[in-house]
Amino acid sequence: MTGVKIMISYSKRGYSIFKSIMKRLYWCPRCNIPLLQDKCSRCVKDKSVTLKVKITPPGDIRPALGRDYFKILDLLKEFLGEKWNNVIPVRNIILLNKIQHIDLADEIIIDGQVIGSRYYDIHSNKWKFRPSYPIVYQMVRKRIGYYAIVEMNFLKRRYEIHKNRIIEYNFPDIKGEYVAVSNHKRNFYGLGILERGKRVKIIKIWRKRPFSWLEKNPTWRDVVEGNLEYLKNIEDEAVRFIKETKEKYNLPVVVSFSGGKDSLATYLLVKKALGKVDLIFNDTGLELPETVNYVKIFAKDEGIRLIYADAGDNFWRSLNVMGPPARDYRWCCKIAKLSPISNSIKKNFPKGALNFVGQRKFESLSRALSPRIWRNKWMSNIIAASPINDWRFLDVWLYIIWKKARINPLYFRGFDRLGCWLCPASQLGELDEIKLEYKELWTKWEKYLKEFAKNKGFGEEWIKYGLWRWIHLPEKIKIYLSRFNIDSSRYDGIRRFGDINIKEDNNKIEVKIIDSLIPFSKERYETFMQTIDKNYKDFIRYDSEKDVFFINNNEQSSLFIKNLIRMMNCVGCGLCIVWCPTNAITIEDNMAVIDVNECISCKNCVKICPIAEYIFSNLS
Ligand SMILES: [Zn+2]
Repeated sequence: MTGVKIMISYSKRGYSIFKSIMKRLYWCPRCNIPLLQDKCSRCVKDKSVTLKVKITPPGDIRPALGRDYFKILDLLKEFLGEKWNNVIPVRNIILLNKIQHIDLADEIIIDGQVIGSRYYDIHSNKWKFRPSYPIVYQMVRKRIGYYAIVEMNFLKRRYEIHKNRIIEYNFPDIKGEYVAVSNHKRNFYGLGILERGKRVKIIKIWRKRPFSWLEKNPTWRDVVEGNLEYLKNIEDEAVRFIKETKEKYNLPVVVSFSGGKDSLATYLLVKKALGKVDLIFNDTGLELPETVNYVKIFAKDEGIRLIYADAGDNFWRSLNVMGPPARDYRWCCKIAKLSPISNSIKKNFPKGALNFVGQRKFESLSRALSPRIWRNKWMSNIIAASPINDWRFLDVWLYIIWKKARINPLYFRGFDRLGCWLCPASQLGELDEIKLEYKELWTKWEKYLKEFAKNKGFGEEWIKYGLWRWIHLPEKIKIYLSRFNIDSSRYDGIRRFGDINIKEDNNKIEVKIIDSLIPFSKERYETFMQTIDKNYKDFIRYDSEKDVFFINNNEQSSLFIKNLIRMMNCVGCGLCIVWCPTNAITIEDNMAVIDVNECISCKNCVKICPIAEYIFSNLS
C-alpha cells in the first residue's frame, strides 16, 4: 500500500495559529537561492525581481544536509529510475518543509519550487516520494517513470480513468503506485494512483503552466551572502533585546545549551551582546554520545564555564516503576530534565538568574503562543528569555554559517531534532534512524519494550508501529492500523505502572498495592510512617496481613495516597530537594530521605513529586 494520500490534519485552531506566525519564503531567480526577505543582497544594484515560494504553514524551512541530502537523491532516483537527472537538476541547495502526516513528511524545494513531498511509510518502514507539478509535467513530456496519457478533454479530481481511455502508458506491476497523468491535449496534468484493472484514480490536478528550472547551482555560502542584510537586521534586533533584558532584570546570565543549533545561535547572540557567559547543559542520560562530546569541546574551545546538570540513570531506574513514557505520560521530562536542571540552577544561582534559551515559535503550537520573556514555572527567581523566538530554522542555520561557528556533527548525519534519543514525541522515521545508526542503544530499549509487552500480553505491532508512544492512541493511528486489520483497542488506555487498587466506599478508602513493581518493603513502610505528617496517623490504619491501608475519607486523602505512592516508588530523582523550604531532604540509596526534625509538614515534596503525580493521575 504505497500511494497513500498525505494527510493534512492540523486542527482548525492549530492551523490558524501557525498561519499567523508564518513568514514568507522568497527566491532570487538570478542567483537561484532562497531569500528570507524579498530582497537579494547580492543583486541590490540590479533591482532584480524575487519570486514567492508557495509552501504549507508554518513553513519552518530547513536545509537537507549530509546524509539527509543523499537520502533525498536516492529517493528521487528510485522513483524516476535511471533517467532521473533528465527530470531533476543536481543542486547543492535542497530545502525541506515539515508537513502534517501520520509520521514524518516534508515538502521538497528545489530551484524555488515545491517539486513534491516525501513521507515515511510506517508500514514498510521506507521513505516514499509524491511528485508535484514540476516532476509530473516532465515525467509525461519525457516519458520517464510511471505515466499515462489519456483521451479526455480535461482531468477531474477523484475521477477513475478506465483503461480504454488510456492511449499511452508505462505502469508498474503492482497497484497503489503514483502515476503522472496528462490528457491528450496536454492542457491538464494530474497525479494518479494505479488501481486494479489498469484504472488510474486522479488525486490531484493542475492546468498546464509554463515550467523551467533555474540555471545556477550555488552553495550555502552564496545563500548567506544573498541574505546578509536580513541576517544583520535580525542579529541587531536580538542583540538589542538581550542588552535591554539584561538591564531590566540585572541578574547573572546563563545560556541553556542543548548541543542543538538553536542554543548555539542563542549563545552567539548573547556573547555578541554581553561577552562570554556560562553555559548550562542537562545530560538526560539519553543524549547521543556526539552531543555530549560536542558540548564539552564547545565550552572548552570558548573558554567558558559549563554547568553540567546530570540526570545519571534516573530514567532507567524510573522505568521499573513507571513503565515506558508516552506523549500523554511524560514523566521522563520531569525526572530526566526538570529535576537535575532545577537542582543545578538552585545550587549555582541561589539568588536567581537570567536564562537565555533558544526557544522558537515554529517548534510547536504551545511555543507559538509563548511570549519572548517569561518567568520559569518551577523557579520563580529564574527569568527565561528567547532572543530567537521569531526565527525560522533557516534563519538560525544561515546565521550559524555566517558566523562560521562549530556545529554538532549530528546535523550532517540526518538528525535535525536532537535531544533524548528515545523521546516518545519522536516519529517512527526518527526512531528507525536511531535503530540503524545506534544499534547498541536501540537494542537496550527494544529489549525493555519487548519484556514489557510480554508482561502485558501485547502483540508485536505494539513495538513495530511505536504504539508505546501513547497511552491513549490518537484517532488517526487507530484508523491507520485498522487498514491492516489491527485491533488497536487492546493497547488503548492501558496503565503502565504496578497496580494500586483504590476502593472508595462511603467514608472509607481502601488502598491496596497489588503488584507494585517495586516489592513492598517493611523498611520503606516504616520510613513512610515516620516521615509522614503526623496528622495522617489519625485517619489511616495499615493492615499488614491484607497489605491494605484503610483511610477515613477527608480532603487529605488524595495527598495521603500521593504520599504513599511517593514513598513506595521513590527513585531519588531529587526534584523535592529543590522545593523543600527547610532543606530537610537528602538522597540516600536512590531514595529521598526526610529529616523528621527539620520537616515542617508543608507537603511540598508530595505535591511536586513526578512519580506520585503521574501514577495518581492515571489511577482510575
Ligand atoms: Zn540574487
